Amino acid sequence: MDEVLRSDRLVASETSYVARKPSRQTLRFSESGNPTIERLYRTHWISSKLSERKRERLAEKASRAPELVVIQPLNDAWTCHQCGGTGDLLMMENPGPACLRCVGLHDLEFLAAGDALLTRRVKAKSARHAVVVRFSRTRRRYERQGLLVEPQALTQVARLRNTTRARPGARRIDGGLDLDRYARTASWILRQQRRIRRVFGLAPTAPIPPLDPPG
Ligand SMILES: [Zn+2]
Repeated sequence: MDEVLRSDRLVASETSYVARKPSRQTLRFSESGNPTIERLYRTHWISSKLSERKRERLAEKASRAPELVVIQPLNDAWTCHQCGGTGDLLMMENPGPACLRCVGLHDLEFLAAGDALLTRRVKAKSARHAVVVRFSRTRRRYERQGLLVEPQALTQVARLRNTTRARPGARRIDGGLDLDRYARTASWILRQQRRIRRVFGLAPTAPIPPLDPPG
């Protein structure tokens, strides 16, 4: 069989399939879990006519896990199907909404969308991340608000930027943005949005009056 495939100029590429859940367990294809069957299902055949770089990119793309999606609900009257709690963010599971603590993402920090380079850098350093979306009633679709990332990923990117800046003549990256302050401000805004709506008695979708970020 290997011979036939080689003459067809196909190259084996194994892909791991993972569940779209924070636990990210590898998905099983067969009831028995037989390793040979599992491997055959996981294996993709890629044409050897493609350049090595292209093959690598295809293999990488196929094994990339689907992104976790966290919802910033319009209505905060929701309860977690596991613990009965609530919060600013939730994750939809089959039985209903779940709080971030129950899905094991409560330690992540919010990084607001808007700086593509910063997002890419932090995401690359964060082992876990989730996309935060919010439903827009006017546009009738979910819109990306930002990412939940590991706090140490934010710190690492900030440190990297600081050392780059410290060397004389070093290339400045991220446009000199203060990452720590940026992250603090982003999570501050998220916390305040709820408080302001409560204090002003605003509907969950009402526009929020502009405020100065903390000094
Ligand atoms: Zn919960």
